[in-house]
Amino acid sequence: MPSDTADTADRSGTAVDMISVTVDGQSIETRAGATVLDAVLAAGVDLPHLCKDNDGPALGACRTCLVSVEGQRGLPAACHTPASDGLIVNTDSEAARAARKGIIELTLAMTDSAAHGNGSNGSATTGSATTELRHHAQSHEADALRWRSRVKNHQDDSNHFYMFDATDCILCGRCVSACSDRQHIGAIGIAGAGKAARIASFGDEPLGESTCTSCGSCVAACPTDALTPKRAAAGAKTVSTVCPYCGVGCGIKITAQDGVLTHVDDDPNNRSSNGLLCVKGRFGTAFVNHSDRLTTPLIRGADGLQPATWDEALDLVAEKFAEHQGAFGAFSSAKATNEDNYMLQKFVRAIMGTNNVDHCTRLCHSPSVEAMLAQLGSGATSNSYSDYEASDCLFVVGADPSSNHPVAASRMRTAVDRGAALIVLNPKRIELCDHTELWLRQYPGTDVAVLNGMAKAILDEGLADESFIAERTEGYAEWRAELDAYTPEAVEQMSGVPADLLVRAARTYAQPNATAEGPGGSCLIWGMGVTQHTNGTANATALLNLALLTGQVGRVGNGVSPLRGQNNVQGAGDAGCIPDALPGYQRYTDDVLEKFNSVWRADLPQDEGLRATDMVESILSGDGIRCMYIVGENPLLTEPNLAHAREAIAKLDFLVVQDIFLHETAELADVVLPAASFAEKEGTFTNSERRVQRVRQVIPPVGQSRADWEIVQDLARRTALRLGLAGEGFEHGSAASVFDELASLTPIIAGLSHRRLDEEGGIQWPCPTADHPGTPRLYDESFPRGLGKFVPVRQLPPSEESPDDRYPLILNTGRVLYHWHGGTITRRVDGLVDSWPELRVAIHPNDAARQEIGDGEAVWVASRRGRLEGVSFVTEDVAEGSIFVPFVRLADTAANWLTNNVYDDVARIPEYKVCAVAVERAAEPSEWRHSGATGKRGKRRQYW
Ligand code: SF4
Repeated sequence: MPSDTADTADRSGTAVDMISVTVDGQSIETRAGATVLDAVLAAGVDLPHLCKDNDGPALGACRTCLVSVEGQRGLPAACHTPASDGLIVNTDSEAARAARKGIIELTLAMTDSAAHGNGSNGSATTGSATTELRHHAQSHEADALRWRSRVKNHQDDSNHFYMFDATDCILCGRCVSACSDRQHIGAIGIAGAGKAARIASFGDEPLGESTCTSCGSCVAACPTDALTPKRAAAGAKTVSTVCPYCGVGCGIKITAQDGVLTHVDDDPNNRSSNGLLCVKGRFGTAFVNHSDRLTTPLIRGADGLQPATWDEALDLVAEKFAEHQGAFGAFSSAKATNEDNYMLQKFVRAIMGTNNVDHCTRLCHSPSVEAMLAQLGSGATSNSYSDYEASDCLFVVGADPSSNHPVAASRMRTAVDRGAALIVLNPKRIELCDHTELWLRQYPGTDVAVLNGMAKAILDEGLADESFIAERTEGYAEWRAELDAYTPEAVEQMSGVPADLLVRAARTYAQPNATAEGPGGSCLIWGMGVTQHTNGTANATALLNLALLTGQVGRVGNGVSPLRGQNNVQGAGDAGCIPDALPGYQRYTDDVLEKFNSVWRADLPQDEGLRATDMVESILSGDGIRCMYIVGENPLLTEPNLAHAREAIAKLDFLVVQDIFLHETAELADVVLPAASFAEKEGTFTNSERRVQRVRQVIPPVGQSRADWEIVQDLARRTALRLGLAGEGFEHGSAASVFDELASLTPIIAGLSHRRLDEEGGIQWPCPTADHPGTPRLYDESFPRGLGKFVPVRQLPPSEESPDDRYPLILNTGRVLYHWHGGTITRRVDGLVDSWPELRVAIHPNDAARQEIGDGEAVWVASRRGRLEGVSFVTEDVAEGSIFVPFVRLADTAANWLTNNVYDDVARIPEYKVCAVAVERAAEPSEWRHSGATGKRGKRRQYW
């Protein structure tokens, strides 16, 4: 039973006072402020507490935790009784046990008693699994039939992931608390009173059509069979690991049986997620056992891709790679482990002799990294998720955390419900807009104007942190001189953001809770709405200028926080899968090269390699890259202007794809190598708050698939042989050994090892020594570059492409809750596809009316580069003059057929957010339009 009473420090590492409590004769040390229930559970006593979730608040509703306490009259509820030093608790007194038995019998009367009884007294234990209620009914020998009273027959199976059966509901309220107090969603509550009381959605809609986001917290909290997952089954073993989807990096506990994942639960001990999950983490791992998994190597022959042995495939690849030394590039995978990524970049550099290695950070946060490196000296998030909860103001820019980083969003809503201010800067109305009056809706691509305008307002109102600027920054005077043009009124003209709202946002961000002790803490949080522009680096720079101006870094409750997309995009960069630096962001200086050459026994290249987007252009140039190794990436869904990307990939002499599915890019490969998924290997992921966490093997690799690092290592040895190299350093016997080599060369994680992470849980870098506790917060005293640097940036035209008569609307792209990026894995999870089966084109009612488009109609969207067919979703959530289409490929179509392959000059990220399009009603409804469409559009903003 999890308990937080064992440590003498809280989650932030602060020491806490301890007290001593005696439970059933056993002396227990617990922290001051703990409840009697905390002490009882820490003692390992199996006391019922049906309405108290392990992670949730004490509701005091069920009274099943009654105990005897020496010196106190009656039988207090343990969950509501504070523990005090010297307290003596008896859980097994005759009076307490009898009282609990009676209460459990009354509780049983609220359910389908036969399923929960103790097996005696005429009621059989017929339930499908052991629930908490059934377990305690048995342990207390409760008579299930004693108080049988009411019959309830309400069932709701409208949600794609779980069922509700009122027959087993005891109205304990744990599900309601999980939804409201933990996730801060509030989709369900207790409706009615007395015998009519029941769990119902807000608005009393079927759960599948309500505002429920299917995070499953209610299911996890339910102590009976009232809320049950639809697809869960029993398993033989349970393993703690990390969610394979987004950069939040939530802890999951996977149960498996005979090589099949059967169930996923949250990990209450994970420090990044604190027992929370979203729908993808809890219900989205069925892709691991999907029949589409690649199980053998494939080699292209006259009849297309054909099965081959590993030796045949790797020998062919090694031969071709050796032939193409000098014209070679590789994409690594932000979904693979640090160990996988480390071995890949080592192979590319040490054997293939090039720095042409990159990963999907190029397509999401490369502008953030470039700007942070230039202005602060480090390219990572400065704070922890706990700082969101501790913050006085959250400024969320160009991000939709509720859809893309849902557990981070829950922690943001926790802060807002506590009273923190929330500012949203986004052209699209996102779920967080429901929680604030400070929504700044700018014209697409005018972020710099708004952020410079806020900076000027802060200066004009005297809210800048002068001492921070004087002591910790440089470049202030030059930067300030560039701001004169950004008056609130001028910014309103440029961006559409009302001048008064801009000034209010500036005041709130600079000093959200000004007291004698300080201005209060503001967290600056941003996403791909900032970065995926031709001026993405300028946008990120303008954000960092704001943080430097107000000193909003380095303290509890503040910081700068780009929300990383993929589960291990931080780690792939840390491990060196970027063209301009070795692991740990170590540049190609003589000292660094000497260190790596000595350990790797190599002669490493010194010139920067090509960035991912430049590799595509290099292929097309004809005299650049001619051979590629693409690991865990699908550029023919993720690159902009897919026709252009397809032309490049088709032009390669030789293409090797290593992945878990035969996706769009793999279909064009000469050789396909089957990789093991996250659930089939050991390793580590590093999440968005720099926390390195253990990934653990749950099942054996599917088919003949192998861990990426093992494949790369084998390939490296074979390629080295053909190039006349020794190929030393590719003999690791375990992922732990690979990590040790990575750590030995990388100062920011030098103090970490698999063993330490197993013993202590995830640790945030920098962690330079084995006794260093890790670093929750950066920049409290200085920046890695010394002084923080102000850099002037100007508002430029947002794109090479403005709307015109032929293409009158602006296309914005992004992600949605139920799919992940291009959908390569989420399209292989039934419930996720059922929840979001069609490519929805969100369009403002006025634009829809002009084109005579109704809600739910088949539409064409065309840009200068391509066209797609989708289903209209008429909503004011998008601004007039723009549409939104998610990245996911559904029904053979995807947004990147439309987007523009123009790039930010500094970070080389493509323009994904602004391109001119036309929308019109399709002449004929498409076949797929009606296949599985839910008819729920418009009700659920969380579906975005
Ligand atoms: Fe997984 Fe991200 Fe959801 Fe957490 S928030 S469960 S890491 S997808």
